[in-house]
Amino acid sequence: MEIISLGSGSTGNCYRVSDGHTALLLECGLPLREIRRGLDFKLTDVEGCLVSHEHLDHARSAPEIMKAGVDIYASTGTFDALSLFGHRAHVLDAPTRIGTWLVTPFAAEHDAAEPLGFVLDSGGERLMYSGDTCFIRPKIPGISHLMIEANHTWEAIRGSDLDRSVKNRTIKTHMSLETVKGFLAANDRSRLREVWLLHLSDRHSDEGEFRRQIQQMTGVPVIVATTSAETAHASARERPSPPLPVCSDQVPDVVVADDTAAFTPPDEDAPEIPW
Ligand SMILES: [Zn+2]
Repeated sequence: MEIISLGSGSTGNCYRVSDGHTALLLECGLPLREIRRGLDFKLTDVEGCLVSHEHLDHARSAPEIMKAGVDIYASTGTFDALSLFGHRAHVLDAPTRIGTWLVTPFAAEHDAAEPLGFVLDSGGERLMYSGDTCFIRPKIPGISHLMIEANHTWEAIRGSDLDRSVKNRTIKTHMSLETVKGFLAANDRSRLREVWLLHLSDRHSDEGEFRRQIQQMTGVPVIVATTSAETAHASARERPSPPLPVCSDQVPDVVVADDTAAFTPPDEDAPEIPW
């Protein structure tokens, strides 16, 4: 399995994964020309693009990708929010074959219309991709390659000078390092070979420390997907980042000072994605 990060973080997320036969994009949150460049201008070699939710840092180029002839896979809610329709828009609501991959969606916990995470199976290997999510509800045995959001630590959020509402939004919609560890502790890691940490917050994470802690816990190589400096520079020059869709303010308050209030334990009754 080959995983390449074209960009990770709030300036745009996009990854290419391949099992040696079928290449897929996970997200298309970068400007199209950056995606083309990251793919060596071989966009049409990609069999499809999975989009976890409609926020622009994940879906910015979805209309252009479709026009360029690449199929998009997402939830109905995501397609509706993006106003994307047509024969290249495939609703992902059940395990679906895309080339040599079997893609199984699961519901993510994020302030978007119908956010998803994905489990991708091929040739006895299993990749789990989390997208933006506060936690991961299903049990997912047999993961060999884990791509998971690790946005912040609670300590960094607590000590931050951010507005209380922004702190609460972050904790309720993005995954902390503590929750990543909770996920790893609650799931079978016997086949785990590689961990990618995604979407680190510039202000509330420490790349070296995140890598060290997860490597120590799992004993496998840990790669931190950072924003490509070249990509960030090019998109800033091209145009100012458009505002992200407004986040829901219906999210209930959490007490930031109390770890236990923010931590969502693994759900014992959650469905298991069979291995
Ligand atoms: Zn988002």
